[in-house]
Amino acid sequence: MAIVDVQGVSKRFGGLTAVSDVDLTVNTGEIHCLIGPNGAGKSTLFKLIVGLYPPTKGSIFFDTVDITNERPHARVQRGMSIKMQAPSVFKELPVRQNIQIALQERFSGAERSAEEERLLTLLDLAPDSGKLAGALSHGQQQWLEIGMALALKPQLLLLDEPTAGMSPEETFKTGELIKSFNSEGMTVLVVEHDMAFVRQVAQRVTVLHLGKIFARGSLEAILQDEKVAEIYLGKAHAH
Ligand code: ADP
Ligand code: MG
Repeated sequence: MAIVDVQGVSKRFGGLTAVSDVDLTVNTGEIHCLIGPNGAGKSTLFKLIVGLYPPTKGSIFFDTVDITNERPHARVQRGMSIKMQAPSVFKELPVRQNIQIALQERFSGAERSAEEERLLTLLDLAPDSGKLAGALSHGQQQWLEIGMALALKPQLLLLDEPTAGMSPEETFKTGELIKSFNSEGMTVLVVEHDMAFVRQVAQRVTVLHLGKIFARGSLEAILQDEKVAEIYLGKAHAH
């Protein structure tokens, strides 16, 4: 069963086609990794799925409902949440308040306080909850953003480069966290450059190149695909 079904979607920015006739199915309950070189169109595809851009053409379905023309907030209410690539925590506010702001959408009263503590503990942010978000390390800011996305209790969590700026230990921990959300039923679509992380979490992989689907399949099949190694792995080191 598909939770998201992207059908023939394109996005043009002036003369540039950032996403070109993409079909993508994300199955309910899976961890699906979207990989590809810089500029492949990964972040644009995410923004199309969550409704931050209207597509130039094509349709997007969520739980079989056509959401192509729905606004981002309506998609959040359906159960989608995104951690974008560019940092979006409120740096001048305390960590705890960042989580509180995100929780307001779904929770109130005692339930909200309980969820606040649960998220701060889950993300190892409880000891730093009084600090300004801007004073956290880069890795901790990424965790805070993941926590803010989780605060919306999504059925589908989209993570755009969640481990950028993290140490290998932090990256591994993030992978384990994502697997734990997934084992509780959350579907996860994640853009990542770190191949160790992709190996750790991915159940299926889609490769985007120059805005188009270049390959898709199981993690094993993608890792063995020489064409993928040429376009992606070769350049990943230079990135
Ligand atoms: P990726 O996330 O795979 O690195 P992006 O989706 O960010 O790729 O970008 C794909 C292409 O679209 C790039 O050439 C980028 O410069 C261009 N692009 C992305 N967003 C915009 C925008 N808002 N306006 C114009 N061009 C954009
Ligand atoms: Mg990107």
